[in-house]
Amino acid sequence: MGACDLRSKRVFVAGHRGMVGSALVRRLASEDCETVVADRTELDLRRQAEVEAWMAAFRPDAVFLAAATVGGILANDTRPAEFLYDNLMIETNVVEAARRTGVGKLMLLASSCIYPKFAPQPITEDALLTGELEPTNQWYAIAKIAGIKLCQAYRRQYGCDFISVMPTNLYGPNDNFDLTSSHVLPALLVKAHAARAHGAPALEVWGTGVPRREFLYVDDLADACVFVMKYYSGEGHINIGTGTDVTIRKLAELVCRIVGFEGELRFDTTKPDGTPRKLLDVSRLAALGWQAPTTLEDGIRRSYDWYLAHRGQVRGAA
Ligand code: GDP
Repeated sequence: MGACDLRSKRVFVAGHRGMVGSALVRRLASEDCETVVADRTELDLRRQAEVEAWMAAFRPDAVFLAAATVGGILANDTRPAEFLYDNLMIETNVVEAARRTGVGKLMLLASSCIYPKFAPQPITEDALLTGELEPTNQWYAIAKIAGIKLCQAYRRQYGCDFISVMPTNLYGPNDNFDLTSSHVLPALLVKAHAARAHGAPALEVWGTGVPRREFLYVDDLADACVFVMKYYSGEGHINIGTGTDVTIRKLAELVCRIVGFEGELRFDTTKPDGTPRKLLDVSRLAALGWQAPTTLEDGIRRSYDWYLAHRGQVRGAA
């Protein structure tokens, strides 16, 4: 049922410079397939004619659609038109060009923030479109929901084997380490590193430390995507996560231990906690036969090593 063999296939990774796309390229290197990518200068995915010409020339057998305009709360709030326009255009152009050129399998990557703000935890796939969205990222969410629907519609009307997945919070190589726009895990790594380097007595953690979050190492995500691409075919999207979460306090303690910062944690409760909990239900993925191989501790160690090796080049490095 829907098994997709990648052997000897040409696989297009759209968005190969991002954290997810670059992890997919690393993962596909160990598959017996040809991976193709397109540089932003040669292909603007928001331009239909460019996408159709590129796809007609390269004729991939399979496509991972990991290209998107992304950003944190501030970026979403100040550039809503770009978040909606760019993401709608990228999805519709790639999906339609994939149909026209006879792509055998396509996977669209969304994100867990497209679920309703008050979805019951852990969040099952069925929670999609059952309640109001978080208003700050509604622009991105609406575009991604349209992308999922697009894959479903192409399957129904044209019989295309197009699927979607919903990853949880990700971290790892090529993450955003800019403290003004990053998520908590890279932020804590940068702050703990700086605190140790400067012999600071304390590390500042936003909020109360009580909220719980789930974190998936991005190379595990790539592994799951390849697995789902090979073995799943259907209208419903698939959640990808670890199935477990930790409090922000526990996360901060773990980061400090890995970085070697021995000072105390200071919780800045003037900063927002955000949603109390965000955990995906990964039963469908588990039933297919995949679970995350990397522990949070190992993943953080690898991210920290990557940060140390690249901090001359990364955005916002201390
Ligand atoms: P969210 O999952 O969409 O809420 O995004 P974040 O990753 O930005 O925040 C997750 C939790 O970590 C929130 O409760 C934040 O208050 C908390 N947090 C603690 N310290 C930091 C920090 O330095 N940066 C960020 N972004 N969040 C932090």
